[in-house]
Amino acid sequence: MEPFEELPSPLRRALIISGVYALVGVLWILGSDQLLLVFTRDVDALAGLQTWKGWAFVLMTSCLLFGLTFRQFRRYQEVMEINRQQAEQILDLSQFRESIIDNASTWINVLDTDARVVVWNKAAEQISGYPREEIVGRDDLWEWLYPDDAYRQSIVERAQEILDHGLELEAFETCIRTREGGYRRLSWNSRRFFDGEGRVNGSIAIATDVTEQRAAERELQQRERQLANLMDNLPGMAYRSLFDEHWTMRFVSSGCRALTGYEPSDLLDNRTVSWAQLINPDDSARVAREVEDAIGLGEPFAVEYSIRRRDGTTIWVWEKGRGVDDNGRLALEGLILDINSRKHLEEELSELATHDALTGLLNRRELEVRLKEEVQRAERYGHSLAMLWIDLDHFKAVNDEHGHAAGDHVLRRLSEMLETSVRAVDRVARYGGEEFIVLLPERNRLEAWETAERLRERVCSQTIRVPGSGSVSLSISIGLAVFPEHGTSGEALCDAADRAMYRAKDAGRNRVCVAGE
Ligand code: GH3
Ligand code: MG
Ligand code: MG
Repeated sequence: MEPFEELPSPLRRALIISGVYALVGVLWILGSDQLLLVFTRDVDALAGLQTWKGWAFVLMTSCLLFGLTFRQFRRYQEVMEINRQQAEQILDLSQFRESIIDNASTWINVLDTDARVVVWNKAAEQISGYPREEIVGRDDLWEWLYPDDAYRQSIVERAQEILDHGLELEAFETCIRTREGGYRRLSWNSRRFFDGEGRVNGSIAIATDVTEQRAAERELQQRERQLANLMDNLPGMAYRSLFDEHWTMRFVSSGCRALTGYEPSDLLDNRTVSWAQLINPDDSARVAREVEDAIGLGEPFAVEYSIRRRDGTTIWVWEKGRGVDDNGRLALEGLILDINSRKHLEEELSELATHDALTGLLNRRELEVRLKEEVQRAERYGHSLAMLWIDLDHFKAVNDEHGHAAGDHVLRRLSEMLETSVRAVDRVARYGGEEFIVLLPERNRLEAWETAERLRERVCSQTIRVPGSGSVSLSISIGLAVFPEHGTSGEALCDAADRAMYRAKDAGRNRVCVAGE
């Protein structure tokens, strides 16, 4: 029984069918003969019935054979149809797969175990420049893609590791040389694959062209480096702060050290000191107002103020910035520059523009401005205003005897003498050469006369020592004019005082003459 069961199914089935057929045939022959004998024993009739029995057997077996073969052929036809459909499906599927591989936007290539190219899709063609016909079946593409020997060696070793040890590459970047001689940077994902029986069949690699992306990243990094470099080399400090009462700094550039003496970390989030603490208290309200006004108008702001540095010194800074959005909060962004030297220069220039370089007194132009103001004030409030026009007597002789430098020294000493002899509200100016003007607001003629006399006496009673050249005795002649008696304008007053001074000269010098007398 057992060997029979081991027979393949088609043979077993054929043996069963033919066995059953033989058995039925034998039973039919024996059974039907016995049955006939029940009905008749007539030899002729039996012979005729035997023939009919034969025909009936042929007919029955033919019908049976027809049924069996018909069923078999029909099943065979169905199987054939299923096979055809499956074959079609498989073809469709493999074409579909090929088309996906071919039209994928990423580079796909498959190598067999001998590193021969089996699949080389369109993207691989486009990126590398090598058409499929040139590549498929070859095993020397490494030399084309990686012409540098050492570089190629390192890549081939990786490829071998994939096949031999199942290394799986992810985002592994290489730089290939294209057919046209250009270079592209590719990011690879690669692994080996197996056939149906688990044998290594080759390796599949997928690559994305990241050339542009890397170039953009490099450019961005470079720009960031340049920006950081620029920030570090700014003549001041770049910042981002909150618009709050502390001016809380969220970012300060390294220029902070030179500007304030503090480390950037000291200022960040008011850790050691807040920016508000550094601003000169006299300036803080004005700074806040100016910044607030500009922000309110949606405009950038520029403001000058002084700050206290870590070493206690005070410097002037210029801040330019604008309001920006910081995660829904208003923040400020800008630049703070050290303008201390510019401020001092400005002060020096303004001093030069209004003061005489030799004596430090007001110069002629500034005197004219002040004179105009004082005349207007005197006019408005009905006050008097007096002017003294002073000229040194025989000053030429001082120059001739002691030299020009000694003359300058004498002019400076005389200036000090004049300035320290009058009130703070009085104005002393060098009109030119050795001529001086003293403005005496709210002084009437008599008071002015007394002042003039005091000045004259002081000058002639003192000798001025000239370094290396003995000493000099001086006297001055003074012309006195009073507003509004001798003139109602600055020019008229000057004119009257000048003429009075000349009269003093004519009268013998070292004296005071009043205009109009
Ligand atoms: P007088 O009494 O008539 O005024 O005689 P004076 O010598 O003072 O004559 P005058 O006022 O005409 O001459 C002014 C002189 O002052 C001429 C010039 O040598 C001298 N002087 C004018 N400006 C300067 C100056 O800046 N420095 C020096 N050292 N001398 C000056
Ligand atoms: Mg003169
Ligand atoms: Mg003179």
